[in-house]
Amino acid sequence: MLVQEDTIAAIATPKGVGGIGIIRISGPKAEEIGHRLFKPKKYSSHLQSHYLYYGTIVSLDGGAILDEVFLSIMRKPHSYTGEDTIEINCHGGPVVVETVLHEALKAGSRLAEPGEFTKRAYLNGRLDLAQAEAVIDLIMAQSNRGLSLALSHLRGNISIKVQSLRSSLIEILAHLETLIDFTEEDIDIPPSSEFSKTIRLIIDDIEEILATYSEGKTVRDGLSIIITGKPNVGKSSLLNRLLGEKRAIITPVPGTTRDFIEETLLIKGIPIKLIDTAGIRDVQDQIEAEGIKLVWEKIASADVVIILLDGSTCITEEDMEVIDKNKGKEIILAINKSDLPSQIKDNDLEKIIPGIGPLWISAKYGDGILQLTEKIYELTMNNKRITESDVVLSNLRHKVAFEKARDLLTIAYNAMIQGLSPELTVFDIKESLEHLGDIIGETTNEDVLDRIFSTFCIGK
Ligand code: GDP
Repeated sequence: MLVQEDTIAAIATPKGVGGIGIIRISGPKAEEIGHRLFKPKKYSSHLQSHYLYYGTIVSLDGGAILDEVFLSIMRKPHSYTGEDTIEINCHGGPVVVETVLHEALKAGSRLAEPGEFTKRAYLNGRLDLAQAEAVIDLIMAQSNRGLSLALSHLRGNISIKVQSLRSSLIEILAHLETLIDFTEEDIDIPPSSEFSKTIRLIIDDIEEILATYSEGKTVRDGLSIIITGKPNVGKSSLLNRLLGEKRAIITPVPGTTRDFIEETLLIKGIPIKLIDTAGIRDVQDQIEAEGIKLVWEKIASADVVIILLDGSTCITEEDMEVIDKNKGKEIILAINKSDLPSQIKDNDLEKIIPGIGPLWISAKYGDGILQLTEKIYELTMNNKRITESDVVLSNLRHKVAFEKARDLLTIAYNAMIQGLSPELTVFDIKESLEHLGDIIGETTNEDVLDRIFSTFCIGK
């Protein structure tokens, strides 16, 4: 176990007022700090690990009572960080928790950096890197599906897969290295064709895992969908309808980007960020134009665009502009106001946007909205169904590492089936092992670790 010399402390609960606020202290001095600050209600010379004790927190200078609390000690290695850890449950007011934290710092700890508790858990072998990353996904989960995906990662489903791929590769490497020193006749190891077969299977396995990324990412981060169309086609009405609530009419503040509206809705557990462009207008002012440019950039990166037309009027120049602007994107074509007599024919639409079957909807009365959400879900999932037990990727870092490993193994595989000497394949296999090791943090360098943990909140 890696021993960290300093003891860290932080407020582990969100900022603001709440029922309780938790201060977490971890490191070699945690217990000593606990003893200096905490006076148990019932005298006890030895606080047991994993028990909750009622008492007061007193100031170091003078013993003034700062709060009534519950305190627990989790002695190493049976704590989140793997170190001695103290948790103080204070009353959940910002001044109370700040005061207690301040006292803990004065007593010999320092303020923890973002994610430092989890980093220590990783450094002490309580979690591997993929599991540590799952902790932040779990905290940030926006839906039940996102939560169960993060949980499966935290429980090690990616890690177990990576370990098993790595051990197959290590076994092959051992044989290949023996082959370099001896010939196949001299020793009793499987023929080299067996190795190429195994490498092929590993490549196929990695391909299968990589194929889950787009769904995994969608489940984790959701999708952004933009509702676009000329003024008055019913964009805001559609947004409200999809959100299932009658919100106050959104009055755009002319010339400001505040009239750019983004809301999140869940469709079958997938977080969908809906962006309504109703308020975006042409502006003359330079600064506002810059702001609107940013909005358009965001729009450009949307995953799906709902182009809304008004079926009760003929298609206009403005509609054509909207259609042109979104060429090449993933499009849903929705014709609104289906409750009114139609002025647009499906044939005309086929000429303008070929191959995209239009959906007729009424944002005002709700017709066709179910079909629209089904369509959104279909596009989101690309009709894939992933079972609970599958390894599903959702983290770009893991995806890149798997891709690098796959590419190197493909080079090794090709060399093998061409009958090239094992010396030529050993290097690529070793490197692919490193990329796989990066996923679980076996070979990850300090910079990457810092970058990963800096995305965490303080106190986690
Ligand atoms: P936006 O400018 O595109 O956001 O359009 P709004 O949502 O503000 O709607 C413009 C007008 O069209 C409003 O008067 C809505 O009540 C009306 N409207 C929106 N959807 C429908 C619909 O499905 N049917 C009918 N008849 N009117 C609608």
